[in-house]
Amino acid sequence: MTARELAVQAARELQAIEAELEAAALLEPPATAIRSVLELRNGVCRYPFGDPRHPSFCFCGAEAFRALPYCAGHARLSYRPA
Ligand SMILES: [Zn+2]
Repeated sequence: MTARELAVQAARELQAIEAELEAAALLEPPATAIRSVLELRNGVCRYPFGDPRHPSFCFCGAEAFRALPYCAGHARLSYRPA
């Protein structure tokens, strides 16, 4: 394997690690989280966290990405190709 191929492979691995870390962060409610469906308005991410019957249930609440109902991170998570 050439030095260039090694560098390309290392960059790919780093990217995969970053994507994993980012995905893990998206599974925890952020500081912007909103607790009630009544607080949901246009332009905020409505990605749900937890069980709707549980008091800790909340929505992401971050700024939505373009016309989507989710922030950029959750849009990516939600629309990821299977
Ligand atoms: Zn979100």
